[in-house]
Amino acid sequence: MNQKKAYLSLGSNIGDRLHFLKQATNRLNEHGQMTVMNISSVYETAAWGFENQNDFYNMAVEMSTSLSPEALLEVCQSIEIELERVRDIHWGPRTIDIDILWYENVEMDHENLTIPHKYLLERPFVTLPLTEIAPDVSVAGVKVSTVAAHHEKAKEKCLKLNHVINVHT
Ligand code: ADP
Ligand code: MG
Repeated sequence: MNQKKAYLSLGSNIGDRLHFLKQATNRLNEHGQMTVMNISSVYETAAWGFENQNDFYNMAVEMSTSLSPEALLEVCQSIEIELERVRDIHWGPRTIDIDILWYENVEMDHENLTIPHKYLLERPFVTLPLTEIAPDVSVAGVKVSTVAAHHEKAKEKCLKLNHVINVHT
């Protein structure tokens, strides 16, 4: 089967955030048509918009997959739904958000799916984890590593944690 490389962004700000990141990573890896190849550190990011929100935990993963971008999005969304079900509060932010950041040789702007992700280079909580595992990925000629270096100096809180997530831990 033709394997393609793709990068995903995972975020959580409810309950046991590490648990949800681990669960999502394992489920992605357990899917028959994809494998988790590489995992970034976990970053803690201040949430903005709502009060009384937990900080976010964010990370990036590299996938090898035979799924199309559309099918990959469906898998990501079904994992989001599965992990929603175990949450004990029915309001507020989600337990897990899984976004497709980049997919090998694909550029698309459809109603339900934009690749590369619209905000790939906008947010420190995306560029800092991503540059660990994909420094050379670029959007319109701008490298992730270049933008991440700027973001590192920014004041916005985005803290690299010591937790390391492995598949099946
Ligand atoms: P957000 O990720 O922006 O916080 P959601 O996870 O609710 O919000 O996503 C909203 C919609 O974004 C999804 O229904 C999906 O169709 C669309 N979308 C467009 N491009 C992408 C992408 N690259 N990865 C994930 N979702 C995407
Ligand atoms: Mg999303």
